[in-house]
Amino acid sequence: MLDYLAGNIDGLLKKNLPWLILALLLVGAQSPALAAWQEQQRDIMGTRVSVELWHGDDEVAASCSARVLAEMDRIDALMSTYREDSEVSYINRNASIEAVSVSEELLYLLQRSIHFSEISAGAFDITYASIGYAYDYRKQQRPSDQVVEQKLAAIDYRHIELRDRKIRFNNSAVRIDLGGIAKGYAVDRAIDILQHCGISRAMVSAGGDSRIIGDREGRPWVIGIRHPRDAQGIALRLPLSDSAISTSGDYERFYIENGERVHHIINPRTGRSAGGSWSATVTGPDAMTTDALSTTIFILGAVEGLALVESLDGIDAIIIDSTGKVHYSSGFQEPEN
Ligand code: ADP
Ligand code: MG
Repeated sequence: MLDYLAGNIDGLLKKNLPWLILALLLVGAQSPALAAWQEQQRDIMGTRVSVELWHGDDEVAASCSARVLAEMDRIDALMSTYREDSEVSYINRNASIEAVSVSEELLYLLQRSIHFSEISAGAFDITYASIGYAYDYRKQQRPSDQVVEQKLAAIDYRHIELRDRKIRFNNSAVRIDLGGIAKGYAVDRAIDILQHCGISRAMVSAGGDSRIIGDREGRPWVIGIRHPRDAQGIALRLPLSDSAISTSGDYERFYIENGERVHHIINPRTGRSAGGSWSATVTGPDAMTTDALSTTIFILGAVEGLALVESLDGIDAIIIDSTGKVHYSSGFQEPEN
């Protein structure tokens, strides 16, 4: 009897196995327990943007990722200095002639930028672009000493006047560029969209700026910090969940001339590439803050940079200085016993 039944089931299984597998797969695809991580990548804002998220419904996941990428495109169109028709380009052409109206969104970014200038004694300064525009790392061009000397006085955030939702530059050589803060802002906007989609586990990155919500199946994400002098090497790994992390490095956009590294992080005091650091990594609650601060403390260097970080709540940092030495803020130091 048993043999007979077993034989029958066996026969049934053999005949219907492909259908059974298909049915199981279909059930699996709809079951949240088997939901998968989804990843989308695209090049926006001159960098690689990636959205990784966990969701049970493929369609929701895909439409939310698409909204995130569209939002990043929108922010790029607003702030890029490579686009003539961006709001920032319009301001750069006109704000030293007359006061120019500013959108609420840009006003907020300008105010935050000025805040980071104020707390860093001007190390972070979006008017760096008054000289910064004359650097072209791909063409290996930098401004002459004469140009730097002529325009250095234009680098000063105090030339920016914000009044009645208008902006005016009180020096005709001033230009601004939000490259040190815009990507972090875009990452925060992306996370906002994902949260509104009901997603509670995700990571969004734009180049060196990332923000994580939730964790990875009960464990933190492990974020690698690139070795500043070995493109394939990882210098450090940090376990992170529910936070933002940004790294600024002198290896992102640079060229070497007569043994000197000409890179994209400009010291507002000199109008030249900042020395002293190879890379600066900052963790904190949101990516706009970590983006602005990573650029800032890269310029300030280990001693001043970490002193600034210690004065701020919820912020930690790691600086690799120009001798390769690693400096940690107190939150990353092993407790002494
Ligand atoms: P990225 O992720 O592009 O490497 P970083 O966060 O390291 O950006 O910041 C570098 C960018 O910040 C530069 O490309 C430039 O747009 C801008 N920047 C350079 N120097 C300064 C400065 N002193 N203050 C504010 N922004 C700066
Ligand atoms: Mg930055």
